[in-house]
Amino acid sequence: MDVSQILDPLNDAQREAVAAPAGNQLVLAGAGSGKTRVLVHRIAWLMQVEGASPYSILAVTFTNKAAKEMRARIEELLGVNTFGMWVGTFHGLAHRLLKAHWQEAKLPQNFQILDSDDQLRLIKRVQNDLQLDEKKWPPRETQWWIGAQKDEGLRPQYINAGSDPWLATMVRIYFAYEEACQRGGLVDFGELLLRAHELLRDNDAVLAHYRRRFPHILVDEFQDTNTIQYAWLRLLAGDQCHITAVGDDDQSIYGWRGAKIENIQHFESDMRDVLTVRLEQNYRSTSTILNAANAVIANNAGRLGKELWTRGEEGEPISLYAAYNEQDEARFIVERINDWVRDGNRRDSIAILYRSNAQSRVLEEGLLREQVPYRIYGGQRFYERLEIKNALSYMRLVSNRDDDTAFERVVNTPTRGIGARTVEMVRSYAREQGCSLWRAAQLMLQQRVLAARAGNALQSFLDLVNQLAANAEDKLLDAIAEDVIETSGLLEFHGKEKGEKGQTRVENLQELVSACRAFDGIDQPPGEETEEEERPLLDQFLDSAALDAGEGQADEFEDAVQLMTLHSAKGLEFPLVFMAGVEENLFPHKMSAQEPGRMEEERRLCYVGITRAMQKLYITYAENRRLFGSETYNSPSRFIGEIPPNLVHEVRLKTEISRPLFQPDYGKLGALSDPAPDFDDLPPLALGGRVDHPKFGEGTVVQFEGNGPRTRVQVNFDDAGSKWLVVAMARLQPL
Ligand code: ATP
Ligand code: MG
Repeated sequence: MDVSQILDPLNDAQREAVAAPAGNQLVLAGAGSGKTRVLVHRIAWLMQVEGASPYSILAVTFTNKAAKEMRARIEELLGVNTFGMWVGTFHGLAHRLLKAHWQEAKLPQNFQILDSDDQLRLIKRVQNDLQLDEKKWPPRETQWWIGAQKDEGLRPQYINAGSDPWLATMVRIYFAYEEACQRGGLVDFGELLLRAHELLRDNDAVLAHYRRRFPHILVDEFQDTNTIQYAWLRLLAGDQCHITAVGDDDQSIYGWRGAKIENIQHFESDMRDVLTVRLEQNYRSTSTILNAANAVIANNAGRLGKELWTRGEEGEPISLYAAYNEQDEARFIVERINDWVRDGNRRDSIAILYRSNAQSRVLEEGLLREQVPYRIYGGQRFYERLEIKNALSYMRLVSNRDDDTAFERVVNTPTRGIGARTVEMVRSYAREQGCSLWRAAQLMLQQRVLAARAGNALQSFLDLVNQLAANAEDKLLDAIAEDVIETSGLLEFHGKEKGEKGQTRVENLQELVSACRAFDGIDQPPGEETEEEERPLLDQFLDSAALDAGEGQADEFEDAVQLMTLHSAKGLEFPLVFMAGVEENLFPHKMSAQEPGRMEEERRLCYVGITRAMQKLYITYAENRRLFGSETYNSPSRFIGEIPPNLVHEVRLKTEISRPLFQPDYGKLGALSDPAPDFDDLPPLALGGRVDHPKFGEGTVVQFEGNGPRTRVQVNFDDAGSKWLVVAMARLQPL
């Protein structure tokens, strides 16, 4: 038996973990030390040496994409296929269990996943029914609260509100929300986990079956499991099965979503005979990048403590760029990307990371302007776009008429003369009867309780959906999609929207048809003994659309720059990384000042960001930023100040004439700045600076171009508008 392929590419500590005798294992190690590699090789080892069948392995990964990569790696190592192996996210695996055991889980067979947008709508509706004012009871807050309860495994009947009226109301909403979900056969993300746990807890036969089936359970990114996920793992493992957990306490970044770093510590006491392995060599980054990361994270207290070193080369210093504003930041990043690509590198070796999703828009515009292909990873999700959600809602109704969320969404989209009042009547009728909106509409039409016009319009909607369902019989998935977008009138409706938007929406709808065409039920290998194959492809597609929204985006094969939030970058690596918007209040996020522990989580996020970089890291911040619709002046992030100055090179504006007015105030770093070039014969203008012109009056300098005596500036004059002026000629007076 040739095991050298499995063990050779590993160091001693990694080998110890991979080739350990059967048992529970905890691999605790810093970023880039090969934890994920150990997990993959451990699976290969179990199959090759211990004779484990792929059917006996359950692996939990952080994203569906990571799951695919894991399969590919194992297939490459062993030359066997991994059909039958269960690899996926907690949510994906929970969903799979619930689909296979819907009866025991007390769900309708065709239950649908409720994404967070739909969830919010439903909560609004529920609160509305309970006559709770949205202003006093913000639905988003309720949504967050319900999610938090589910993450802790709490059903409303177990929450004791005592004499707390706020809590009592939350519990009341929670009850009503649960009821609405159950009625519509809807399952939100938190519910997937909670139900999957209850399924195993309350069904001995099911639990026994899976314990027999999965003697080997492996978990990546263990530091970000929450209470219910950990409980599920322990329940599934029992005393017989073995868990290999790999993680890094310094990379725990989902505390705000209920993740518990403590699970790492508990693991050692909760499980029997845990072998703990530490990996200390980093294989990913240059020593410069690694030292910067180590220095930043050293500012956190209460770490489990790990060493991390590298034999890698020193590499280039980290480049720090102080942009004038977010536009300038985007421009700078795009220029560096073009340089990098011109040097013969691929675009997919580049990632731009940011703290908040909303930052992507300006970066996207910058990339579009320079025609740099890019992809947003896990962000502005294809399946969350308005027109796509509309089309999916029709498809969901085809599959399940009682899906109230889908019903509400498209009952009057495209507009067909069903007004808010009619919808409200249907709603309250459904409430009285305790039935779905669809059913209520049917009954109301039978009983002719609606005015003729409204009744006709509603009837035509029901007829349309029934027609779509009839058309869908025995059709291929893409034909169903095509029929839905045309017959429903969505294509025409969105096509009529003004300008590019309409065009984009039509393209997206067309893209949905391609997505259906490409959907090959990748998770349902032939011969699997679950009921997956039995289910209509349409249902499978709808679930997968809801589950891995955005992870694999449209043009998957084009070489493109990757944009993503710092959170979704976890576990990934890129030769060139930009961290953008590294400013106080943005990163660390301003919320973090209010809650204890949050600042440390932000710092861990920074550690995650820095350690994604293999060769080169750029950190940028803007002195002036328009974001979320308002303008802010933030100082550079404290995290920048935590990087040892000798590892950083500050990039100066090529066109800068004098010290910028917005002098960065990161104290420690002040010494880094090169002395500013001095042009005696020119007035000391600065980006963002105020100036006075004899003719145009006062204004703000927004851009420079050119050098020396040929320097031109763009000034936004308060009254005279924007002008380009040659500095040497323009008689501008700094104010
Ligand atoms: P993260 O904490 O970011 O998830 P990780 O600990 O999971 O990181 P990996 O992604 O498994 O680390 O490995 C980081 C990089 O180092 C990968 O490119 C991997 O292929 C490489 N690597 C890991 N171990 C070795 C080794 N023994 N020899 C050479 N390269 C290695
Ligand atoms: Mg990893």
